[in-house]
Amino acid sequence: MHIDELYRLYRQYPRVCTDTRNILPDSIFFALKGERFNANTFAEEALSLGARYVVIDEAQYQKDERYILVDDVLQALQQLANHHRKQLHIPFIGVTGTNGKTTTKELLYAVLSQKFRVLATKGNLNNHIGVPLTLLSISEDVEAAIIEMGANHPEEIAFLCGLAEPTHGLITNVGKAHLEGFGSFEGVKKTKGELYDYLKSHDGVLFLQADNAHLVEMEQARGVNKVVRYGFSEGNDIIGRLEIANPFLTVSWHKNGGTDYKITTHLTGSYNTENILAAVAVGDYFGLTATEINAGVEGYVPTNNRSQITKTADNTVIADYYNANASSMAAALDNIAVIAGNKKVIILGDMFEMGEESTEEHRKVIEKALSLGVDRVIFVGKAFYAQRNDAAQFYETTEEAKTALIEKPLKGCMVLLKASRGMAFEKLMEVL
Ligand code: ATP
Ligand code: MG
Repeated sequence: MHIDELYRLYRQYPRVCTDTRNILPDSIFFALKGERFNANTFAEEALSLGARYVVIDEAQYQKDERYILVDDVLQALQQLANHHRKQLHIPFIGVTGTNGKTTTKELLYAVLSQKFRVLATKGNLNNHIGVPLTLLSISEDVEAAIIEMGANHPEEIAFLCGLAEPTHGLITNVGKAHLEGFGSFEGVKKTKGELYDYLKSHDGVLFLQADNAHLVEMEQARGVNKVVRYGFSEGNDIIGRLEIANPFLTVSWHKNGGTDYKITTHLTGSYNTENILAAVAVGDYFGLTATEINAGVEGYVPTNNRSQITKTADNTVIADYYNANASSMAAALDNIAVIAGNKKVIILGDMFEMGEESTEEHRKVIEKALSLGVDRVIFVGKAFYAQRNDAAQFYETTEEAKTALIEKPLKGCMVLLKASRGMAFEKLMEVL
């Protein structure tokens, strides 16, 4: 089927589903293939659950006119999404980076929605499937779109830019993550830099954290035409400062030569200062007043265990086990080092997908965590355990750490919980 025909159906039934567990009525179901499943086999079920059409790529499953046969379902989804994108003449803000994409995206959303109808990526739908789904969820009344773009291998950001065609964009930062896929830190920079390449060649606007040497170098290597600078030093367009972190952040900001404002936030982690400044810069660029910008940031409350502070019956926990890599580990450790709290405990789990640098990066984390002089440090996971020493407690598995915490519970502590998602640190949360 030609993409124009598929687009006509989509205009009539503009809801798209890919999962039979949540089929929306009158939707179009795209039968994607995963490593373990072939959704062509669920096409009939999707129809019985309320889908209006199913897009499939294996002729043997086609039964009637509700089955739309294409060469490749994933490609059809991506082409349809890009076709839809091209009909929308609104700002598209692309957000990528090693850490802080979702948080920055949500802050941008919180700020811009003070003035506009905004659509932003739901949750973390930031890959070759999530980005098309996000694009297809943009209705005609939307005035600005914020698209999170993730990558774990080269050329992925270029590909996602081709789909989403951002008119504006920012890279939060570049750090060591997904080194297995990227090969090296240079590989990370090159891939993230594909957003700058796209903005340069399409005359887009770049929001640059101008006190981040890597990002500045990446911008200078390309010479993007339109750049809005935010950061910590005078001379930028938006200048900010972290005032208080105990543990919530108070941040002040001003425009070059302008009035100073203070924002009290629900965020912890000094690294979030730059995510906040990104939102200020974007809000200001799109004509929001300082009052609107500040209200947007102040109203944002993080969820999903991204630097979320939870008071349990016995302790205060900084839950940050949504993900972990070398740079976000370092940032989380810097944060616990500076925030107030008398009995501090650091519990760290393995960082996954670190490739050849895994041993060295885990070693550095151990060194840094032990150098902070906090009351207790606990390391969990095989990579940490392989480098165990007498200065801290080491457990090979999360289960073992949990047992130890049940036997000797923590009380009245400020606890940092940080690990890769796969370490399942929610199990430790249960016993804090
Ligand atoms: P993912 O790759 O899983 O989509 P993400 O880039 O969307 O991650 P977030 O979910 O916003 O990132 O944040 C994850 C964690 O990264 C935070 O809890 C925090 O530890 C760390 N982080 C957030 N912002 C920054 C930053 N600016 N610099 C360093 N680390 C950060
Ligand atoms: Mg994310």
